[in-house]
Amino acid sequence: MPTPLSRSPSARAKLFALIDDVLPQTQCTKCGYSGCAPYAHAIAFDEAPINRCPPGGLDVLHKLAALTGSRLATLDPLCGPSKPIEVAVIDESQCIGCTLCIAACPVDAIVGAPRLLHAVIADHCSGCELCLPPCPMDCISMQSAKSPWTPERRARARARHDARGTRKVRIDGLIAAKHAARLSQAHEAGGEDVLRRRTTLMALRARARQRRAAAEAAQEAAQEAAQTATRASATEDD
Ligand code: SF4
Ligand code: SF4
Ligand code: SF4
Repeated sequence: MPTPLSRSPSARAKLFALIDDVLPQTQCTKCGYSGCAPYAHAIAFDEAPINRCPPGGLDVLHKLAALTGSRLATLDPLCGPSKPIEVAVIDESQCIGCTLCIAACPVDAIVGAPRLLHAVIADHCSGCELCLPPCPMDCISMQSAKSPWTPERRARARARHDARGTRKVRIDGLIAAKHAARLSQAHEAGGEDVLRRRTTLMALRARARQRRAAAEAAQEAAQEAAQTATRASATEDD
């Protein structure tokens, strides 16, 4: 087996895929990473030890040791205890429908709408516990899962997590596009305002020029009339 330092980038990419396949895909973040794939990436690139996955327990630790050549044999207690899979259950009598748990669930296992009761789809729940801290009513509890964490559930959790990520990227893109369109509209509206102000100013200046010219013409006419009258009076005196 190649030593970590001798691995090529493509060997590391392959190793990443193998490690990600071994990890439980609960997306619980107990390893300190935002999900299983980022942790797999960190292990493959020698940025993290292999003993930080409590849901995987010793079974996953041994598989990771075989894949990487690492000799670590115990789980890091700082990442939390390794225990059998549980699922979240919402006490509907307490739920206020705030939707905070939906926002926190990495595998879209909670259904509900604003101000309506929420419920967990047990078959989709990975037991990650990420919905517990944000609940303002403390009405979510963890209970023993009725079925084990099978490879099918693991694959489904990964797919749902990926789909959620894709949806988030798409929604973020739509929001950014909407924001850019608003900015552009505001900019154009600002441009129109400037044009309108400039046109009004030009019209006012032109009107002022016309008034000034008319006043000067009237003054000249009055002077001319006065001179004519003076001349006529002088002629009469002669
Ligand atoms: S199951 Fe949890 S602790 Fe294990 S790799 Fe995935 S996110 Fe990390
Ligand atoms: S319902 Fe709660 S415990 Fe279950 S997957 Fe979603 S966030 Fe995790
Ligand atoms: S976070 Fe708690 S109160 Fe809010 S919707 Fe979820 S279960 Fe109900």
